[in-house]
Amino acid sequence: KHQGEDQGFQRVVAVANQKGGVGKTTTVMNLGAALATFEQKVLVIDLDPQSNCSSGLGWSRQDAPTSYHVLEGLVPLMDAVVPSSFPGLDLLPASPDLVGAEVELLAQEDRALCLAQALKASPPPHHWVLIDCPPSLGILTVNALAAAQSVLIPIQCEYFALEGVSELMRTLERVRAAWNPNLAIEGVVLTLYDERLSLANQVVEEVRRFFADDVFSTVVPRNVRLAEAPSFGRTILEYDIKSRGAQAYLSLARELLERRLAHETRRAG
Ligand code: ADP
Ligand code: MG
Repeated sequence: KHQGEDQGFQRVVAVANQKGGVGKTTTVMNLGAALATFEQKVLVIDLDPQSNCSSGLGWSRQDAPTSYHVLEGLVPLMDAVVPSSFPGLDLLPASPDLVGAEVELLAQEDRALCLAQALKASPPPHHWVLIDCPPSLGILTVNALAAAQSVLIPIQCEYFALEGVSELMRTLERVRAAWNPNLAIEGVVLTLYDERLSLANQVVEEVRRFFADDVFSTVVPRNVRLAEAPSFGRTILEYDIKSRGAQAYLSLARELLERRLAHETRRAG
């Protein structure tokens, strides 16, 4: 039984892919904001020591508690959550200290379950908890997968798009076997799509063959506005709502909500 169930719907989603630069952070920030525009309360947890998600959401405090302190059990999770500039979107920020957590956690017996325990001890009231994972399958990503109900996998429309996917699938299997038997695939989102490259369409077909219905119909285009927004500490919805990038993340949020709704209805009926 998951925390939050008593007060209604909650979905904890790890956004993971051990490849860097595939759009994990961009997806967490902008899908989070897009879900918030559909009247969902959203918490973004930044688990990447590079903390791009935190800075992209305008966070810059040096002295505040972060996901590092939460993982180490030094601060209750909700005490470290701060509002972002986007209404309905909250943030548990990361800091470079997290590099230390990678090492320190390895010494602990329950090292994979630190985030799961922190969520249980201090449950966030949000409808959605999106976890931004670092580009590795190390202990931080494993903590996210052990704490999540599902994983959302961004895949870049590029050469070798599926490279590393079997390793990611093996990690999901390991996490299911050891800690989280119900860990599902929330979906696969194709990112950085460039229609001018014929290769991009081949990649889309290849990924759809591999993941079938798990692939969202929404494909996120390569859109320079998406790359610019974080340097202003803004989501794409604040920076340029008319951009194709903004429209793609709104469409992805709608699709995610429709799928969940269909799922919940099937389960209840
Ligand atoms: P990851 O978190 O997987 O490492 P990021 O989300 O940080 O990937 O994206 C890598 C880089 O590509 C960043 O500079 C980001 O701004 C840019 N980027 C991501 N998605 C897009 C997109 N759809 N169009 C243009 N640039 C993008
Ligand atoms: Mg990232």
